[in-house]
Amino acid sequence: MKDEITTGETSVADEQTRVGSTAKAYGTKAPTDPLAPLQIQRRGVLPHDVHIDILFCGICHSDLHTARNEWHGTTYPVVPGHEIIGKVTKVGNGVTKFKVGDIAAVGCMVDSCRDCEHCKQGLEQYCLDGFTGTYNDPYKHLGGVTYGGYSESIVVDESFVLRVPDGVDLAATAPLLCAGITTYSPLKHWNTEPGKKVGIVGIGGLGHVAIKIARAMGADATAITTTKSKTEDAKRLGAHNVILSTDKTQMQEHADSFDFILDAVSAKHDINEYLRLLKLDGTLTLVGAPEEPLSVAAFSLIPSRRSFAGSLIGGIAETQEMLDFCAKHNITADIELITIDQINEAYERLLKSDVRYRFVIDMASLRNQPDAMQSTHRPKNKLR
Ligand code: NAP
Ligand code: ZN
Repeated sequence: MKDEITTGETSVADEQTRVGSTAKAYGTKAPTDPLAPLQIQRRGVLPHDVHIDILFCGICHSDLHTARNEWHGTTYPVVPGHEIIGKVTKVGNGVTKFKVGDIAAVGCMVDSCRDCEHCKQGLEQYCLDGFTGTYNDPYKHLGGVTYGGYSESIVVDESFVLRVPDGVDLAATAPLLCAGITTYSPLKHWNTEPGKKVGIVGIGGLGHVAIKIARAMGADATAITTTKSKTEDAKRLGAHNVILSTDKTQMQEHADSFDFILDAVSAKHDINEYLRLLKLDGTLTLVGAPEEPLSVAAFSLIPSRRSFAGSLIGGIAETQEMLDFCAKHNITADIELITIDQINEAYERLLKSDVRYRFVIDMASLRNQPDAMQSTHRPKNKLR
């Protein structure tokens, strides 16, 4: 199909529309720089595109890993943010799922090849060509890289936009777009259900949502934390049991007892201590992605035929399923709502495991800021 460009109902295939409009954003130009105002370009609305004015964006630890180049693949400037909820303000004339005025959401992906065997199974996160991340991935429309949700608006193909169930708290639902799906997908894949003993390691943004989801799936849910002050809170979040992992006696009491453990720890830790909690044929799945490798002792796995696995976010259909599941079970994140100028302080607190339990940026605070002076890049003409 010809790449025809439209705004709303009208086709106006000119350069001005292709390039779209500028938007205020927050990002950084170097791993050691604080985040600061930037001006970015958003593309014009293509026939299947949805233009969203962002209302709320969660702060995921992956944003921090990326901003500081801890995974060694960051292209600067980077504008993080992949827990996005906003209002639809324009739609292309081929859009069928959304109309102007709808509340819509965007998670960690904005595109994939849509044709490989994984995409065809709804596993776009494992696209054999590599999915296009919401930020820091090559941007086929304007060149450069994609820019994420720390911004006033975003334009995304409707196939990668989610419906937000009616009546939910929008700010507290935003974190589900990453923290929710990243935990829902493996919990479901490894058959979390009544009768199963499930442990969640690391009670941060991902971990606290995981407790709520594991409990709603009917499992016996245990929070495993290094932070003493979170032990009472974990029960309020829905955990049946709590283990303070720094207490060797408590860890020993629970050895060989878990069917499944989800590890959402952001920093280097001794994985063997947690593997020993698994019973025969139990699985520990990593979703946490520390900068440094973890070393696994052979005898943490061999004696009880244990499995050590990993899991990456979730597909688009499954993300919609998760949003509907969470709405049905009244699950949202526990959030601290911040303004955009508090973002650097929020990053420092995230590093200290000092957030209860997800920071969410109220994007009105960015909209109300004066315009940033610098533009990030000149878009390349890749559509013609
Ligand atoms: P977060 O809010 O910072 O939570 C991480 C938690 O890990 C902390 O609250 C803390 O929990 C625990 N922790 C931190 N340092 C630790 C240490 N040295 N030893 C043991 N526990 C420690 O981070 P998040 O946003 O939930 O993200 C967690 C990780 O998942 C990050 O690495 C992120 O990049 C990754 N992630 C992966 C995917 C995926 O698709 N696989 C998607 C999103 C995020 P306690 O205080 O309870 O100990
Ligand atoms: Zn994330």
